[in-house]
Amino acid sequence: MNTPHATASALRFTGIGKQFPGVRALSGITFEVRPGQVHALMGENGAGKSTLLKILGGAYTPSDGELRLGEQVLSFKSAADSIASGIAVIHQELHLVPDMSVAENLLLGHLPNRFGIVDRRALHRRARALLKGLAEEIDPSMRLGELSLGQRQLVEIAKALSRDARVIAFDEPTSSLSTREIDRLMGIIGRLRDEGRVVLYVSHRMEEIFRICDAVTVFKDGRFVCTFDDMSQLSHDQLVTSMVGRDIEDIYDYRERPQGEVALNVQGLLGPGLAKPASFNVRHGEVLGFFGLVGAGRTELLRLLSGLANHQAGQVSLDGQPLKLHSPRDAIDAGILLCPEDRKKEGIVPQASVAENINIGARPAHARFGCLLRRLWERNNAEKQIRALNVKTPSADQAILYLSGGNQQKAILGRWLSLPMKVLLLDEPTRGIDIGAKSEIYQIIHRLAADGVAVIVVSSDLMEVIGISDRIVVMCEGAITGEVPRAHAEESRLLQLALP
Ligand code: ADP
Ligand code: MG
Repeated sequence: MNTPHATASALRFTGIGKQFPGVRALSGITFEVRPGQVHALMGENGAGKSTLLKILGGAYTPSDGELRLGEQVLSFKSAADSIASGIAVIHQELHLVPDMSVAENLLLGHLPNRFGIVDRRALHRRARALLKGLAEEIDPSMRLGELSLGQRQLVEIAKALSRDARVIAFDEPTSSLSTREIDRLMGIIGRLRDEGRVVLYVSHRMEEIFRICDAVTVFKDGRFVCTFDDMSQLSHDQLVTSMVGRDIEDIYDYRERPQGEVALNVQGLLGPGLAKPASFNVRHGEVLGFFGLVGAGRTELLRLLSGLANHQAGQVSLDGQPLKLHSPRDAIDAGILLCPEDRKKEGIVPQASVAENINIGARPAHARFGCLLRRLWERNNAEKQIRALNVKTPSADQAILYLSGGNQQKAILGRWLSLPMKVLLLDEPTRGIDIGAKSEIYQIIHRLAADGVAVIVVSSDLMEVIGISDRIVVMCEGAITGEVPRAHAEESRLLQLALP
């Protein structure tokens, strides 16, 4: 990454199209990425962003159109051709070898050797140099498979950067990175820009886009929508509207529903994380929002209701029957199901398949199922939920970690849909997922409520709480500070109740 290629060439896509069997992924994509700029590519899931980057990386050949770098027309037969043209694409899926060391992965194809024997010391020295500034704490001799997902992502990035490319494209690089790792990556991207390289950056995280990008191009359904090239004139809402092609209000798609009897009734509940006894109820068919600042006690309250933590005082009843909630099993048997806040830590088993993740906790109605029948039932159940919830995955056997956050969240919801459900507890269900998947999750929430499920949604997104809830409970510092019906749910009022 020392001296950039002497270039001030723009990358130009002209009329690029890609047809897969039965799927038109891209049509007529025309836009330009200038050097010395970080150019974001945004759009809902399935918009075609990754497909374009795969064309750029030589993994796919376009069905139509032309790719140019400056005056040079680029035409690739393989990924190696793209690399040879000075292009580095960091794909959304990782391409490293888990059984090799970090150093071997980084220098694959260029392993230093002495008399035909790999020179380990040189290997590790070079690997350390490549990780410098990005992930110095990773020991190059470690097996790649031992690293966290975020660390593997950093190794993949270090590997791409080691090629001193003129064009560098990142496909959702931060989805598994920590805040600190993201900060370091942003620093590096800023440097690449200052060196005059062409940087393409795919992400759906608004704060990253506004932090490092100089221009944004939006795709929808495989088509170019527009390019914004003055970020100071661009608002968050404008960007979202251009991605979804409709007004942001509409994504909540709220509809009045008839409400039934009280489902869950909570009286004087006290436990870890609660400073004052909590009392509230939620009806069948109702969506009850829980708003508050991070740390207000909302997650702790849901943990008490789902048997993950034990309460010290108070009473929880469901349909008029007092409940004993000593373990998650008690809650699940009662029909109280939780989608936890930290999807990656508590919600999914990352290495397991989508099907396995859906079938955790799911049980066929017939308890005496044999092993084979059980497997058939599970296969069917997984396929059914994948279809019902529109989980975008190449197959039920795909490891769930490769799915986007929104699709992971839908799979977790799918897990519960095969069980008897009376109360659904959702903790920050749309955090970190794109706008299209958000709107699908809102529709699932409405549908479940319309079927009589009592839904509790914890969210720190004020617009979301207001957008989807029939009633909103506000918490602050471990105590419930107010309850506001939908008709009176103004931002200022909710914020006032949420602030200490
Ligand atoms: P994004 O990265 O914006 O989420 P993708 O480029 O991954 O979108 O996908 C665009 C569309 O192309 C989707 O409808 C997807 O299902 C389809 N698609 C992507 N790759 C393939 C493939 N290898 N075969 C068939 N269809 C594909
Ligand atoms: Mg993608």
